[in-house]
Amino acid sequence: MTRGLPPTPQPAPVPTTWLGVCGWPIRHSRSPEMHNAALGAAGLHAWRYLRLPLPPELFAAAVRALPARGFAGVNVTIPHKEAALALADEATPLASAIGAANTLAFRADGSIEADNTDAPGLLDALPPGHAPAGRRALVLGAGGAGRAAVHALVQAGADVLVWNRTPERARELAEQLGATAVGGPVEADLFVNCTSVGLGGDPDEFKTLPLTADYVRAGSCLVDLVYRDGGTSLLAAARAWGAEVVDGREVLIAQGAASFQRWTGGSADRDAMRGALEMTRP
Ligand code: NAP
Repeated sequence: MTRGLPPTPQPAPVPTTWLGVCGWPIRHSRSPEMHNAALGAAGLHAWRYLRLPLPPELFAAAVRALPARGFAGVNVTIPHKEAALALADEATPLASAIGAANTLAFRADGSIEADNTDAPGLLDALPPGHAPAGRRALVLGAGGAGRAAVHALVQAGADVLVWNRTPERARELAEQLGATAVGGPVEADLFVNCTSVGLGGDPDEFKTLPLTADYVRAGSCLVDLVYRDGGTSLLAAARAWGAEVVDGREVLIAQGAASFQRWTGGSADRDAMRGALEMTRP
């Protein structure tokens, strides 16, 4: 009879720390691939980042339940950024000033802090030679992303104009954040699409925006926050008109790196994020 070896002690399983992105729709979001690549590169193997499809009527209650389910925080996207600020127990001065949050951090006691990384993310992604100070910028859209872009550009010293499909929202936003509402196309050095036009995949939808070759031309820069593999048709048009362009995935990486730092305390490996988005360096 052989005596069995004593069982090898097994380490206690490490509980998963969850992160995610809440939106409606959310299928288009590439944040999960990007953040999971950054978590892996940082050696945070017990962390996972999920896609969380939440319709507006479920958003607040579902987010409040997340801290008890092992979530450390979430990103928030279309159409919940203003609701995210409203549900938080505390907000950073930046998120409060913008009036919208794209990042929620859950504290150990279950309370929720709102922040906004879209604003620094946009400035971070602008190419050298297109610093906003002293320039004129046209922001299209008056939702959560539009609010962040207007605030960031005004604070960076640009003269900011804002256009929105629903003009009252542009007027209200402009008044609150120190910009000027416009009703149609205007000359500008920098154009930022913060509408959801292009998200549905219709290649001609951007033609409904006040952007044409007469205005978006050589010397100007166009940022399309909407992104898709291979680039949007608005980006292709702006490039053909002679403008320098910034793919929304570059803004996604910049704002995502700031959210990552907030949740984990470490810096995100942007090359790993870019690799997950199948992008080459700009
Ligand atoms: P949101 O709060 O729901 O705002 C949507 C905006 O799009 C509103 O200004 C809305 O105008 C406008 N809009 C919707 N359909 C339109 C149409 N057919 N024609 C003209 N305007 C239209 O959404 P959000 O959070 O600001 O996000 C907007 C877009 O930016 C989304 O596609 C999101 O994925 C993208 N985004 C990307 C990044 C990134 O890192 N790349 C970061 C933030 C956001 P009305 O006021 O008239 O409804």
